[in-house]
Amino acid sequence: MAPDGLRPTAPETLDAEPLDAASPGPAAPAPAAPAPAAPAPNVYDAEAIPQAAWAEVERLLRSGDLFRYTAPRDAPVSLLEADFAAEMGMDYALAVSSCSSALFLALKALDLPAGARVVIPAFTFAAVPSAVVHAGCVPVLAEVDRSLRLDIADFTDKLEGAAAVIISHMRGHTSDMDAILAACDARGLPVIEDAAHSLGTTWGGRKIGTLGRIGCFSFQSYKMVNAGEGGMLVTNDPEIAARAVIMSGAYEHNWKKHPGLQNSYLHWQNRLPLYNMRMQNLSAAIVRAQLPEIGRRVAAGRANHDHVAAQLNGSAWMRVPPALPQEERAPDSLQFILEGPWTDEGARRFQEEAKAREVSVQVFGLSQDNARAFWNWQFLGETPDLPKTRDMLMRACDVRLPARLSRAELDFIAAGLIAAAAAVMG
Ligand SMILES: *Cc1c(COP(=O)(O)O)cnc(C)c1O
Repeated sequence: MAPDGLRPTAPETLDAEPLDAASPGPAAPAPAAPAPAAPAPNVYDAEAIPQAAWAEVERLLRSGDLFRYTAPRDAPVSLLEADFAAEMGMDYALAVSSCSSALFLALKALDLPAGARVVIPAFTFAAVPSAVVHAGCVPVLAEVDRSLRLDIADFTDKLEGAAAVIISHMRGHTSDMDAILAACDARGLPVIEDAAHSLGTTWGGRKIGTLGRIGCFSFQSYKMVNAGEGGMLVTNDPEIAARAVIMSGAYEHNWKKHPGLQNSYLHWQNRLPLYNMRMQNLSAAIVRAQLPEIGRRVAAGRANHDHVAAQLNGSAWMRVPPALPQEERAPDSLQFILEGPWTDEGARRFQEEAKAREVSVQVFGLSQDNARAFWNWQFLGETPDLPKTRDMLMRACDVRLPARLSRAELDFIAAGLIAAAAAVMG
């Protein structure tokens, strides 16, 4: 469903390619940068898949047993669903081909009427409005401001006439879930959480992805758990679970390989279309072996983020939006705002100055065709005017910060960014 990814860099994280020759604005020549004291960190390589997965993958390769419904029981996909449900404290987990598939199935499982309006944040990955369109619904974009979180007043206004809500915790930034859930509960609106980038984040001690009616996660390579591709849908609602299982492709009596809900499956069998968005066993084996790694990755990612954020916040020209008090983040990247009298041209030069110092930084709204800039979502027809989100996207910067980086590498990135800002503004 998200057929991007032809580039060597992350489709839903940072595009590291240099500014395109076709970019608007004059290309300022990058001045000579000081020689780096240490080699620039590689922020693109993945971590090795844990050894625990290797034997299981080899077993699957030898047997050829890759389809989740072939084995009578205990297929890797079923075991992963049981583990994930237990890990999240949810009644039902359904493994699927991507988070985009999970979002699509979530909307279909809610049985919304054709053309139903679904409120989403205007700062998200293009796959989110795409899932809404795919489900036959109409996305309504709510403003996201320089806090990188939903503008609750605009969000509440847009609930008028809406049938459902998807909260995208973009880059793991959690909007005010207390206010959002209260506003949606008051109107009887179901909330789907797009927790693609929030595995390991908590809100008031509760796991993000378990607060709404349905939670959706991604195992695409640039997320907390890397299976190349993959997704998960969680819910405590048995009817939603049954409908999602059938539509994910549990044809004939394959639903018998999912625990519980026999009567619901019998009811929905053949009454719902089969969209075939299943996960296969190899992916499940690779995801399962990484579940024990999540705690370490979350702790390291948070420490790395806070270490660099503290240095950037010491600069007059950059500000890392703070977490909300209820929020404990699980970051694998860093976002900050260019603060002060920056111009678009200055922001462009900042990207070049950082690149000259071997640090890749992207201003969301300045890279061509950025999939997170709402004005590029031409498949929506006319995109709305969203001044707050536009203002944020023109000054919000994105840096990859994988959990495996060392302190020296983090300091290299922080120093490069600070010097780049000073070179433009100082
Ligand atoms: C990555 C991402 C998605 C899409 O996930 P896929 O598994 O690639 O479909 C959706 N929303 C957000 C916020 C993401 O970061």
